[in-house]
Amino acid sequence: MDGKYNFTILKSTQFFINTTCLNPIFLSSSREKKRRRIEDLTEKMAVDGGHRDSGCDWDGRWNHVRKFLERPGPFTHPDFEPSTESLQFLLETCKILVIGAGGLGCELLKNLALSGFRLIHVVDMDTIDVSNLNRQFLFRPKDVGRPKAEVAADFINSRIPGCKVVPHFKKIQDFDESFYRQFHIIVCGLDSIIARRWMNGMLISLLSYEDGVLDPSSIIPLIDGGTEGFKGNARVILPGMTACIDCTLELYPPQINFPMCTIASMPRLPEHCIEYARILQWPKEKPFGDTSLDGDNPEHIQWVFDRAQERAAEFNITGVTYRLTQGVVKRIIPAVASTNAVIAAACATEVFKIATSAYIPLNNYLVFNDVDGLYTYTFEAERKENCSACSQVPQDLQFPPSAKLQEVLEYLTENASLQMKSPAITTTLEGKNKTLYLQSVKSIEERTRPNLCKTLKELGLSDGQELAVADVTTPQTVLFKLNFTA
Ligand SMILES: [Zn+2]
Repeated sequence: MDGKYNFTILKSTQFFINTTCLNPIFLSSSREKKRRRIEDLTEKMAVDGGHRDSGCDWDGRWNHVRKFLERPGPFTHPDFEPSTESLQFLLETCKILVIGAGGLGCELLKNLALSGFRLIHVVDMDTIDVSNLNRQFLFRPKDVGRPKAEVAADFINSRIPGCKVVPHFKKIQDFDESFYRQFHIIVCGLDSIIARRWMNGMLISLLSYEDGVLDPSSIIPLIDGGTEGFKGNARVILPGMTACIDCTLELYPPQINFPMCTIASMPRLPEHCIEYARILQWPKEKPFGDTSLDGDNPEHIQWVFDRAQERAAEFNITGVTYRLTQGVVKRIIPAVASTNAVIAAACATEVFKIATSAYIPLNNYLVFNDVDGLYTYTFEAERKENCSACSQVPQDLQFPPSAKLQEVLEYLTENASLQMKSPAITTTLEGKNKTLYLQSVKSIEERTRPNLCKTLKELGLSDGQELAVADVTTPQTVLFKLNFTA
């Protein structure tokens, strides 16, 4: 179909719409037609009743998808040959994993299921909160408190005949390689960078190399969507081939934390006052005993709000509200339903393109921003030669022997391309495994804490020493080589 033809159709549709609006007789007959069509469809769906066999494919059900797969076109992949096999692959074989059943996840599941994907698994560790209901449209008030993955799967399965969504009310870290290996494509709709990086690391760990050459059959494409208010991005990652999440880590700004000195002594913003109450007053005054601050507990928020107001009054700062208090404590970024819809649509389209090989996939990073006007942009994010996740190049650590272990720890967490969260550092000394520092287990943290003040030399480390670093951002240990500088 060329552009001209397309245009004619558009014009006539417009005309048709105008006529319908103006002509009441036509309107009622078209309404009648629509009613009959809905009845007809409902009957077909009722007959199938969500039955999980392919017998529910009524005539013309997949016509919208067939148009893309069973005829040639100017925008198809150069190697594309129209056939009926692609659709059969989608319907019967292609297995998709959706990570996250929240704002993006609901959109993704709906889009994928309506595009013909039927074997879908969804992983989400969250339960439904009442505040989700404005945009996470697979959930209803009666579902509040239930696992998102389960409710989303039930909804899709009962609404879209033949679709078999399998829910997992779990963390992504609860599954091992064998679970992830079963999927053709993985789509992420996550709000956590740590989880994204972990998933990225998992797919990289599944790659197999023979004589240094990547086996393409070990690649599981990762489609990643992310939104934050009016901004979003969608990207296609072919692990081991194109830029991975960690290759472009510099693109994720570190979480904004106010400097402690500002909070403690020179507050200027209402946020500083709230942080003062949250970080300094709460642990000191222990208003509810030993319970830690719970952002979902109204009494806790009220307490922080009251203290923050007192502090604000002291420094003549205005703007401390209950809502802002909750926002700061829970680190809430407002979610915009339409941003989720745009990004999920882009992601689902990429899944479709890759699964069918009918179109050239996004190469490889799409930016969307409608904060002010509407702006989109696509660029090719490049692989980082020494990416700590996907490069297979040992990571260098350059420090003088007089540097303290604390400095190494700070480097691992603060370096823009590493951004680790709570790295655990181990090494081999005199043939024995030695933990230099580990944060996550209290007793080990206490035992290894004195090491932080020791120099690398005092710890017995030598030039060229290998340090193994484990962190929540990756399922695999990252190896670093210590290079002593003068
Ligand atoms: Zn990488």
